[in-house]
Amino acid sequence: MPPEIDNFNFAIMKKRRAIFPGSFDPLTLGHYDIIKRGITLFDELIIAIGVNTDKKYMFPLEERKRFISEAFKDEPQITVLTYQGLTVDFCKKVNAGFILRGLRNPADFEFEKAIAHTNRKLSEIETVFLLTSSGKSYISSSIVRDVIRNGGDYSGLVPDSVRTK
Ligand code: ADP
Repeated sequence: MPPEIDNFNFAIMKKRRAIFPGSFDPLTLGHYDIIKRGITLFDELIIAIGVNTDKKYMFPLEERKRFISEAFKDEPQITVLTYQGLTVDFCKKVNAGFILRGLRNPADFEFEKAIAHTNRKLSEIETVFLLTSSGKSYISSSIVRDVIRNGGDYSGLVPDSVRTK
């Protein structure tokens, strides 16, 4: 016999919290698409901006953070945090059981596969992949940076909050 629904204590059900890690230099419509679809899978999604002191960024950290916070200001399930060090250590710190990543092409898959296997070796954290929506797969932060550097119109590649000028 199936268990009576009243026997379940819904209050103790664990929240499904995921992080979406990346550099977001800057946030693009590709990221935006994955985040919007990702929040339908989890109760909470933390956009985690990884800080790598060896890396040169086009946009300062505070600006990258603002682009994301503004783009998702009406989404209470989303928070933006920054972190340094291993992604799995950050997951443990914020009590997240999942890492969300986007896949654009076979090169992304090969790269992400190695990272997901390593993270699984280091922890119990599962990586969940979403395929990019058609029409968004060519968008990357590095292409956006190239267009900006060369004075091109990048407005069709990023959310409104990134259009600073
Ligand atoms: P990283 O430096 O970790 O590659 P990015 O900010 O470039 O960080 O990307 C963060 C995540 O967003 C990655 O999972 C990446 O595959 C995904 N992503 C980036 N652009 C797109 C896109 N156009 N479609 C789907 N996923 C994307």
